[in-house]
Amino acid sequence: MTATILDGAKVAADIRRETAEAVAELALRGAVPGLSVILAGEDPASQVYVRSKEKGAREAGIRAETLRFPATVTEAMLLAEIGRLNADPEVDGILVQLPLPGGIGTSRILEAVDPAKDVDGFHPFNVGRLVQGKPAPVPCTPAGVMELLRRENVLLRGTRAVVLGRSDIVGKPMATLLTKADATVTVAHSKTRDLPALCREAELLVAAIGRPAFVTADFIREGAVVIDVGVNRIDTAAEVARCFPGDEAKAAAFAAKGSLLVGDVHPVDVRERASRYTPVPGGVGPLTIARLLANTVDLCRARRGR
Ligand code: NAP
Repeated sequence: MTATILDGAKVAADIRRETAEAVAELALRGAVPGLSVILAGEDPASQVYVRSKEKGAREAGIRAETLRFPATVTEAMLLAEIGRLNADPEVDGILVQLPLPGGIGTSRILEAVDPAKDVDGFHPFNVGRLVQGKPAPVPCTPAGVMELLRRENVLLRGTRAVVLGRSDIVGKPMATLLTKADATVTVAHSKTRDLPALCREAELLVAAIGRPAFVTADFIREGAVVIDVGVNRIDTAAEVARCFPGDEAKAAAFAAKGSLLVGDVHPVDVRERASRYTPVPGGVGPLTIARLLANTVDLCRARRGR
């Protein structure tokens, strides 16, 4: 079987266009959605993500700012900043870029964000509401995956789904959303026995573990839909040869850049076994940012009553 691509980049562009239209409408009624991003420390990947988020927000007409702090920032300073943003009527969404520098209590910081401005949906209040099926901001990556599945008409009702990974950011909310959409969901993780056999039962397999090309042909049911959330940087010739065997273009890109991105799913195996799949890059990543912008608009509407 040669799988077809689920085009996350295209769906993300559609969401961004719709979001920009919604922002323009809100502006006519006197409300410009505002997004504030808190970035603490020098994590290189976080710097890249935050730049893309701010750029995407500005392109959609959202008023966006990134508040940068050195790795030496204290918890008290971050809490004070969050308190200020909570009180600012022009700020609709507050995003704390993770990971935070060592020594800072991530839970304490996330729980300080006003749930009405919790654009990532990480506050326990919103997590609880999501689990109960009540309106709540939905974490951007699983929200993006659900949007892709809906717009690409992937059948979920009654579908046997396996979510590989149980993080608060991806795996757990993904499983909640799929269950709500009437899929029959199993969550697998590092202690799961016989992972390949379990994953092979899945008509829909979502991989979110952060292990390069870990999901190989023996994990993938023939004809499954495979969503690859993973983004992993590989930087050895052996890894490149394992992930992209015989691919001269990838070998040349590796020679030029010294590293390549690969998902959690083996890029060659998935093409041979799945019916439809998301590529890395260009699959789930763009959807995450698109949903962040849409969440900002949703929060603006809800909080300002527009
Ligand atoms: P995480 O917090 O590190 O969680 C990883 C999960 O995978 C854990 O539940 C862990 O199990 C499980 N796991 C790790 N190794 C495993 C193994 N060998 N076998 C089975 N399960 C294993 O990661 P995350 O934040 O969810 O991110 C996962 C991946 O998605 C990363 O590559 C990340 O970069 C990517 N990501 C992408 C986007 C995007 O926009 N595209 C957004 C967020 C994350 P235990 O619970 O048992 O430890």
